[in-house]
Formats: sequence, C-alpha cells, structure tokens
Amino acid sequence: MSQTRSPDAFATLRAKVRSFVDEVVIPREELRRAGDSGWVAGTVADLRRQAETRGLGSPRLAPALGGMGLSWEECCGVFEEAGRSFLGPGALFCAPPGQPDVMALDRLATPYQRERYLLPLAKGEIGSCFAMTEPAPGVGSDPRMLKATARRDGDGWIIDGHKWFISNAGHAAFAIVVARSEAGVSWFIVDTDNPGFRVVRDVATMVPFEVSGHAEVLLTSCRVGPEALVGEEGRGMEHSQLRLEGARLFHCMRFIGLASRAMQIAQDYAARRESFGARLAEHQMIQAMVADAHIDLYASRLIALDVARRLDDGASIRHESSMAKVFVSEAVNRVADSAVQMTGALGISEDVPLSMILRQLRPFRIFDGASEVHRSAIAKRAFAKSLAP
Ligand SMILES: Cc1cc2nc3c(=O)[nH]c(=O)nc-3n(C[C@H](O)[C@H](O)[C@H](O)COP(=O)(O)OP(=O)(O)OC[C@H]3O[C@@H](n4cnc5c(N)ncnc54)[C@H](O)[C@@H]3O)c2cc1C
Repeated sequence: MSQTRSPDAFATLRAKVRSFVDEVVIPREELRRAGDSGWVAGTVADLRRQAETRGLGSPRLAPALGGMGLSWEECCGVFEEAGRSFLGPGALFCAPPGQPDVMALDRLATPYQRERYLLPLAKGEIGSCFAMTEPAPGVGSDPRMLKATARRDGDGWIIDGHKWFISNAGHAAFAIVVARSEAGVSWFIVDTDNPGFRVVRDVATMVPFEVSGHAEVLLTSCRVGPEALVGEEGRGMEHSQLRLEGARLFHCMRFIGLASRAMQIAQDYAARRESFGARLAEHQMIQAMVADAHIDLYASRLIALDVARRLDDGASIRHESSMAKVFVSEAVNRVADSAVQMTGALGISEDVPLSMILRQLRPFRIFDGASEVHRSAIAKRAFAKSLAP
C-alpha cells in the first residue's frame, strides 16, 4: 500500500514535521558542539521525547511498535523533512543503526528476541549496533571475505572476530554480529556486556553531530546461547541484504533533505552578496550551479520515490536500490559541494552548517556499498543477458 493517509492528511502531517524541524530541531543545532557526542546524544534524546509527544515518532515502524506506520512512499516526504537537520533523523527515530535493526528484527526475531531486544529498542530504551565490517583482510566491500567465525559449542556458539566502523557499538546494549558458522554466514545477537565482546576504541571520523561514533570491536571466545541466532543459520547474507536495501533508501531520503537545505542557505547568500557590480544570483555561472542542483534534487526525489513505491508493492528492489544509492549519494554531494562553492569562505567555515553538511554527506558514497561496487553489480546485471552463452 503506497498511501496510508489521504493526500490532505499526508500534506498536514508533512507540514507538521517540517515546522517541528524548523521551529524546534534546527534551533537546537549548536555548530560548535558538533563534535561533542555526549551533548549530541542528550539533545537527540530530548528531541525524540518532544517528537513523540507530537505524535511524530518512528515514521516507518508499525503502530504496534509505537511507530506511525507510514508507507515507504510516505516516508520519502517525511524523512526529507526530518533530514534537513543533523538532529532530525535521531529525533524522529529514523536513523541508523536503530531504525534498520528494528525493521530487520521485526521480520526475523524469535518471540524471545522480540521481547528482550526488539521492543525495548523500538521504544528507545536501549540501543543496538550492526557488526559486519572488518579490517583487512576481512570483509569490507566483498562479502565473501568475512573472517569472523561462530563455531558450535554445546547448544550455543563461540564467536571470534575483529570488527570496525561499527556505528553505536560503544552505546549499544546488543550487537547483531555477522559471522561464518558451519552452515554459512549467519546473524547472532550478542549482548555488549558479554565478557567476550570488547569495544577497543572509537574510530574518529569526519562526520559531525555523531551520537554514537563508529567503534572497533573484538569478539574473543564470545560464548552465546542457542537463542542468539537470528533468522536462519546460513542465510545471514540474505538477512543483511534485506536490512541494507531499506537502510539505503532511508539514507537517500534524509540526505536529499540535508542537501536541499545546503542549497537554500547558498541561494540566500547569493541573493544578497554582490560581486563585480551584480548580486551573485545574477551571474550565470552561479545560476548554472543552482539549476544543476535543483535538477539533481528533483531526479533524486523521483528515483527514491520510485524505489519506495516498488517496496510498497512488495517488488524486488535489488537493482533499483543500487541505482538509487549511486545516483542519490553522488547527486547530494554535488549539491552540497556547489553550495559551499557559492558561499565562498563563509561556506567552509563553521559559522554556517555547509561544511558540516558536506562532511556528513561524503561518507554516503562509501557505506551501504561504495559507488564502484554498486556500479559493478548494476553492470553485471545489465550485461547478464548479452553475455549469456
Ligand atoms: C560512517 C560509516 C558508518 C559505518 N557503519 C557501519 C556499521 O554500523 N556496521 C558495519 O558493519 N559497517 C559499517 N561501516 C563500514 C562500511 O560498511 C564499509 O566502509 C563499506 O562496506 C566498504 O568497505 P571498506 O571500508 O572496507 O572498503 P574497501 O572494501 O577496502 O574498499 C575501498 C574502496 O575500494 C573501491 N572498491 C572496492 N571494491 C571495488 C570493486 N569491485 N570495483 C571497483 N572499486 C572497488 C571503492 O571505491 C571502495 O570505497 C560504516 C562506514 C562508514 C564510513
């Protein structure tokens, strides 16, 4: 189902999210505290409570999990509004890793896992992380390089592995750990207070307004019981694909919001600032940057909307979500880069949020599959017929 509300009711909801973001969330962004993760976490938690009292919590989650139950299509508009602020996706609980973890567990969790992990996570009582990536020679872009192991021990497993860039690992109550068991790649839930689970360090990155950081984690003789297995043993790659397809689309939607905010700030500057006897907005090269940015944003919205509608229809989005991820991740970076260029030195300062928007958007060309890896997969599928014997 693509619409859960009438067009009028949805327009009202979207306007409500927009005014919440403009009037409550954006004013709480203190740029000089963008690197203070403790302050960011406290601010996001407070904003999340405020969003919930306005009935704006967890747009995509089912009402049974305390969410708004929006369709994927409806999420496009709501996430774009939320994404205009660095703090918006956290405030509405539509940010990774919690949101995609909830959605994946909602499909895969056993009744015990639902009660113990999914429900408290959906309510915001605990945090989660998803631990797949490993330092070389382990898994990065190539899923076949997974090194973490889970070997049978009585009725449970012993997990050994070295992970890094695990978002929120330092604050999570549990991790979904991807490891290789006898039947193949599998998912396991590991409590982060398990003596075999250790956060080694937080890996500092260029990303501002981080609630959680990205941690390096060691799993050493980490014993878990039979209840730790998530979904089916040996089907962990399919589970990861399921989690990633939705996560990618959510990133596209919210980053369209952030890029469009960057362009608005740059346009406001260009409308006032003068050079060579004219306002910047009157110079054709500035106009070209603005036009190209709007073309990129328009195309990004349409491509995200199309993938969302396919998801609502229950269609496979493997190919389309790859194309959307490549296009949107590169388009929003072009838009933010032009916004910085148009704003001159002010653009690269921290007096305005533009340089931070650029830093927030840049990693999207790498995580959830680097552009090159998606292009390679898209081309293989496109060539599949022509190359068939
Ligand atoms: C902000 C952020 C948050 C993250 N959060 C998490 C998390 O919560 N959990 C988690 O498990 N992981 C997380 N990651 C890791 C992310 O999933 C990996 O960075 C990603 O899978 C790429 O792996 P890699 O970094 O090892 O790059 P590598 O595999 O080393 O690749 C490096 C580069 O090589 C190029 N490349 C790779 N393969 C090909 C190819 N076939 N053809 C052409 N070029 C290629 C690409 O340009 C790629 O960027 C996060 C990363 C970032 C940046």
